[in-house]
Order: sequence, then structure tokens, then C-alpha cells
Amino acid sequence: MSNPFSNAMRQLDKAADIINLDKNIHEILKSPDRVVSISIPVKMDNGDIKVFAGFRSQYNNTLGVYKGGIRYHHGVTIDEVKALSFWMAIKCAVVNIPMGGAKGGVIVSPKELSEGEIERLSRGYIQKIWRLIGSDKDVPAPDVYTTPQIMALMRDEYEKLVGHTDPGVITGKPIENGGSEGRSFSTAQGGVYCVDELAKKMNWVSENTTIAIQGYGNAGSHMARILHGLGYKIVAISDSKGGVYNEDGIDPAKAEQIKKSGGRLGCYCVGTVCDIVDISTDGPCRAISNDEILELDVDILIPAALENVITIENADKIKAKTIVELANGPTTPEADEILNKNGVVIVPDVLANAGGVTVSYFEWDQNVKGEHWTEMEVLNKLEKIMKNAFDDVWSIKEKYNIDMRTSAFVSAVERIAKKIKI
Ligand code: NAD
Repeated sequence: MSNPFSNAMRQLDKAADIINLDKNIHEILKSPDRVVSISIPVKMDNGDIKVFAGFRSQYNNTLGVYKGGIRYHHGVTIDEVKALSFWMAIKCAVVNIPMGGAKGGVIVSPKELSEGEIERLSRGYIQKIWRLIGSDKDVPAPDVYTTPQIMALMRDEYEKLVGHTDPGVITGKPIENGGSEGRSFSTAQGGVYCVDELAKKMNWVSENTTIAIQGYGNAGSHMARILHGLGYKIVAISDSKGGVYNEDGIDPAKAEQIKKSGGRLGCYCVGTVCDIVDISTDGPCRAISNDEILELDVDILIPAALENVITIENADKIKAKTIVELANGPTTPEADEILNKNGVVIVPDVLANAGGVTVSYFEWDQNVKGEHWTEMEVLNKLEKIMKNAFDDVWSIKEKYNIDMRTSAFVSAVERIAKKIKI
């Protein structure tokens, strides 16, 4: 697999070429402002000390305080963290929120640790980086295998170290700990606004627009629920165990009701779509694999699971007219080129899943102002931001005759470059 930071820099160079970016600003944007490597000694349940390696990359704060999640994964590398911090700077700029880009990570297999060990690791991480963070400097958030509960105890550790409360030091907290209404489904909701805008551009009406969603976790399941509510036809969903296809459409809410009342789900499913693998294959409903779901002839394909699922191997088999990337990095750069050549319109991850960081920004804003907004307020503000961002990216795509991923990078780099003082 190619180096993620080199890939990120290729994207920067492409956008820089299109807008003839000042060479000095280009030079500045090629490096993170600061990357720290830390060692976190953790007392394990058996009394031994184990030392975990961790990182925090603060890429750029031209538009506002550094912002980005903390990832717990055995595969974390310094180059991955640097790339993710660059993409955070781009994502915040695409949706035009006053935040910069950062990311953190710890090399750990979290499933092998007890709850107590995870708590000591999380407090240890903050003990090593607390001088660099704060609601006026750098605001972390959850990422892969870090949760709202972990955010609450990181906030607690930080406040103990600095000696005062600072709820805006971290976002993605539980609501009772200063979290925002709507955060739990904000990524999906932001993606739904993109689907709506895309459908308008393609002149599609929701009832006739067919959608396949790969991944039925936080992002994918909320997306299915909200899109179904708006009348879109969800014809396929899947999770790690497999998928289901129903040409008449799948109703996630109905499935939940049937399941709650103890009935048989038939071809429906809740939480995990593996409930449906024993379905009868007669009738319109059938089980499908995770490879098949990507290759369905639908109007919109929504990858909402893993990175690198659309590759040079399957890109030519993609029949969807459009792709809305709810997952981060589901399309490899090589696959991207093939899809663009084949005329598939891709709403890129830096726009399609930016609803999550946008509501994180709202959480920080509420915390620093001492406010608590209603869900309705949050959603109204989110809708405006996502629709404006979609329009900006679309008009840049038309202006330069480029794909939406490149136009999202152009939009972001232009916004950051305008504010850099040299
Ligand atoms: P999650 O862990 O809640 O759900 C992941 C889903 O993917 C699960 O249903 C799982 O069964 C499924 N899955 C795992 N392996 C699979 C496979 N091989 N094939 C098909 N499905 C598989 O994760 P999530 O929070 O929903 O995140 C999903 C994607 O969205 C990730 O790329 C994440 O980075 C991105 N994202 C999420 C958020 C958020 O707020 N949750 C924000 C931005 C981006």
C-alpha cells in the first residue's frame, strides 16, 4: 500500500497546479506545523508496565484551532497520522468552519486491553500532550476505537492537569458531559444533505433513486434510516457478515418494529444485517456479498465501512452512476482515475462525511459560549453549512472541468491560502 502522506501530498500538488498556488504557500502546506511522538507507560492489570507509542500531528491552524480525532489501532503510523491531520485541515476548510487540522493516534490493539487499561492509556496520552491542547489551541475528538466515554475521561484528566474546567478542550463527549445534540448521527445527516443536493443536480426524484449502502454501523445505519424517511429507495445494505438486496426497497424502521415485536425479519434486518442471511431467495429479496453490493447497478453507491474497498481490481465493474463517500478513503487513487474516466460522479469523503466534524465544531462553540442548542438548531445550522459547501465544490468542478474530489481540494486550499500571511 502506498504511503498515505505521499498520497495526501499528491492531492495537494494537483490542487496547487490548478489554481497556480503561490510557491511559498505551497511549500508551507507541504509540512505539518508540529508532530510529537510520545511514549505512554501503562500499568497493566497483571502489574507489569507496558509502553505504548503515540503521536499528535498539528498540521495547520490558519483557519482556527487545530481539530482532529485520536485513533487507537495497531496499524497507526506517524505518516498515517500526518496524512489524516492534513485531510482534517482540508475537510474543515471544505465546509468553511473556523478550525484547522490535527490528528492523534496510539499504536495499540484496544480489544486486547481491559476497561481499566484503556482508561490508564487514555489518561496517559493526555498527560503527555496536555500542554499542546485546549479549547483555544487544539481540540481532539473520537476516531477509530475511541468513544464518547474515552473523551469524557480525557477531558477529566486535562482539567485536573490545568486546574480549571475547559469543556471545549475535546468534542464527541456524552451529552451529559457537554456533548452536542445530534452528534451521534451528524456524519450520516451531513451525507444525506449531500445526497439531496446531488439528486437535484442529476434531476432525480427521491422515490425513483436507488441506493446501496456498504456498512451498517454508526454512519451507514443512520444514513439508511434518514434516506428511507425522505423517500429514497434503499435497495441494498451490508455489514461485515454480508448483505441483502431487495429491488422493492428496504425499510429500516419497519425492520426495527418487526424485530422489537419478536417477529421474523424476513429480508429485513436491524443493527447487523446478518439477520437476513437465512432468507428465502424466492421473491425479490436475496442475500449478496460485500463485493456484489459495490457492483450493483444503482443510482447512488454509499461506501460506509472501510477504506480502500474500491480499487484497481473492481473499479471497472462499478455500475453505480454516482458514489457518496461516507467512509474515509474508500477509493484508492488508481480506482479514482478509472471511475473519473468512466464518468462516475464521486462526492468525496472530505465533503460527504464532514457533517461529523461540523457538529464537533458546534459542540466546541456551545462549550466555549456556555450554551446548549436544541437538535433542531443543530440540524438547521448543519444543513446550511453542508449545502453551501456542496454548492461551492460543484461550482469549482464546473469552472475548471474537474472531478469533485479535486474541486473540494481546490476549494479548501484556496480558503487556507488566502489567510496565510507570508
Ligand atoms: P462502525 O464501526 O460503527 O461501522 C462500521 C460498519 O462497517 C459495521 O457495520 C461493520 O460491520 C461494517 N464492516 C466492517 N467490515 C466490513 C466489510 N469488510 N464489508 C462491509 N462492511 C464491513 O464505523 P462508523 O463510525 O460507521 O464508520 C464507518 C466509516 O465512516 C469509517 O470509514 C469512518 O472513518 C467513517 N466516518 C465515520 C464518522 C462517524 O462519525 N461515525 C465520521 C467520519 C467518517
